[in-house]
Amino acid sequence: MPIHLSCSPCLSRWLARRLQTLVYLLLYCLAGAVVYRFLGVADAFPAAIWLPSGVALAACLWFGSRMWLAVFAGSLFVNYGLFDAPLDSALGLSASNTLGPVLAAALYRHQQADRLPFYRIVDTVRFLVLGVGVSSTLSALGGALLFDQLHHTTGQEGFMPFVRWWLCDAAGALVLTPILLLCLSREQDHYRRHQAALPESLTVALGTLCAAGWMFLSLPQAGQAYPALPALLLLPLLWMVGRVPLRAAHGLALGVATLALAGAASGRGVFSPWGTAQALGNTSMTLMAQSITLLVIGALVAERRISEERLRQANQTLERKVRERTQQLLDSEARFRLMADAAPFPLVMNTLSDGRLLYANPKAEALFRSTLGQTPLNVLDFYVCQEERSAVVETLLRAGAIADREVRLRDSDGRAFWAHVSCSLVRTEQAVYVISGINDVTERKALEYSLQTANEALRRQVNEIESLQHGLREQAVRDPLTGLFNRRYLDDTLPRVLAHMRALDRPVAVLMLDADHFKRINDTWGHKSGDAVLAAIGRYLAQRFRTSDIVCRYGGEEFLIVMPDSDPVAAENKARTLCRELRRLPIDTAGQTLHVTLSIGVAFAPTHGEEAEAVVQAADLALYAAKRAGRDCVVVAGTAACQPSV
Ligand code: GH3
Ligand code: MG
Ligand code: MG
Repeated sequence: MPIHLSCSPCLSRWLARRLQTLVYLLLYCLAGAVVYRFLGVADAFPAAIWLPSGVALAACLWFGSRMWLAVFAGSLFVNYGLFDAPLDSALGLSASNTLGPVLAAALYRHQQADRLPFYRIVDTVRFLVLGVGVSSTLSALGGALLFDQLHHTTGQEGFMPFVRWWLCDAAGALVLTPILLLCLSREQDHYRRHQAALPESLTVALGTLCAAGWMFLSLPQAGQAYPALPALLLLPLLWMVGRVPLRAAHGLALGVATLALAGAASGRGVFSPWGTAQALGNTSMTLMAQSITLLVIGALVAERRISEERLRQANQTLERKVRERTQQLLDSEARFRLMADAAPFPLVMNTLSDGRLLYANPKAEALFRSTLGQTPLNVLDFYVCQEERSAVVETLLRAGAIADREVRLRDSDGRAFWAHVSCSLVRTEQAVYVISGINDVTERKALEYSLQTANEALRRQVNEIESLQHGLREQAVRDPLTGLFNRRYLDDTLPRVLAHMRALDRPVAVLMLDADHFKRINDTWGHKSGDAVLAAIGRYLAQRFRTSDIVCRYGGEEFLIVMPDSDPVAAENKARTLCRELRRLPIDTAGQTLHVTLSIGVAFAPTHGEEAEAVVQAADLALYAAKRAGRDCVVVAGTAACQPSV
């Protein structure tokens, strides 16, 4: 156990230690003198209570084995000087009186380090067993051996002195050691809570002392005996243990012990009817029980208070952490709210399950023309189409988020508008929430619509223009009467076709057709009928050739057909077929059915010329040959006779 002295030079420390030894030597002698003077009974050996054992145990527990000298010298003085024991006996007694507390204190200190035996029940029990028990046993052994030696007792007779000696040592240790240790130490702070008020404590202390004085100094009256009455004093003493510092409680117990011993020694008090020796013995037993009870109950109370204190500290720590956490949450919520309130777009939060709106920032409140106040709002009320809301929820549950979904919403006034909604799911232990950012795209939508409308009108105009251009192009290359290509188209196209086929080394057939005696038709049936005949020839020709062939009205009643990549024999046969079929073609006009024949000249490129002009001219010459041959026939250019065919 610590000595509360500041670090001083060696000499000062040596002097201090010697002083302590001297003080405890004197204290030991004083305790022995008290026993000798007041508590020693001539026919009772040893005394009922040996107070020096309390001093010795306290000194050795607090200061350690270096106190052996004070104990030994004190014991020698008391036994030899006061009790007149023979020197050898006094030395033996002193040795056992020293060995007991020194060894007990060493054992206790080894087990308990520097803990005092007042604050934990395990420490108290160790103090009682290792401290009081071992110390008293060793001291009593010495005393008993000496007694046996002096009185020559054996067996049961020899054992009883040991028991008496043990009890007197134990009683002394139990009465004095706790209060001396408490005087030397500072009581632990956390144990000293819930103290009673001073007047209350003083009243109880004085009441207890008065009661003890009455019990031990006034009682009994004649013929009365109350041996159990002192047990009542435990009640206020236990109250003191629970409500005042232990030092005060044990101090009061010492006061009670003093009164009890004084009463017993003077032949007064509740135990006096049985004689002084028995009264002292009973008092000693009572004080031992009182001291053990105070120590045990005090330790239990201390343990409870220490537990309460730890619990209170843990509770305070917990409360502080809860406060800090709550503050952090409040700060965090405040920051989030600040951020959400300042968001430059509408932001709302609602529960997923029932759509209840929990938060809407000012932009959202302005957009929906509603305030999230006392009246509960629901997102369902702001969807024009409930199916859209269901689809949003379905996607959210599947994907966890939605980006820029176009939905139709409405405000509290019923104004519908288009919006892009982006949502995220937030899951907590309590519920699933949806945080949504909303972008009113009504204006953009209207702009898109007007742009789309303008675009469609523009496309229609472009189509019309393209159609007109196409018509114009067609007009430019088409003959209006027959619908066939005109000569201009032929002049543009034929050279390219010839060049292309020439590059491919493929032949091109050119057929020049002329209606026979067409003038007569005009003259006979009128110009209109002539036109109808020309149109009928055009329709016939148009449907008789491939799209890759070029069929054009060359001028007047003349037609020219270009057949790229055409075999000469096939081309000639085609011409003959034309002749034959047209001859039989009925042409209805002006209520008449007319017939017309064709003369056809055929030429081939590159056989009859590589250039357009040359090959057309060759076909033209062949046509004239066909005319000369009597018409309604086909003549191939280059043939010597230009034989007409039927
Ligand atoms: P041939 O057998 O020798 O070719 O005799 P033909 O009468 O057919 O030849 P000619 O060259 O003497 O007469 C051609 C006539 O075709 C003269 C002209 O009035 C007529 N003609 C030319 N173009 C048109 C037209 O667009 N419409 C009508 N109705 N007649 C036309
Ligand atoms: Mg002609
Ligand atoms: Mg003609």
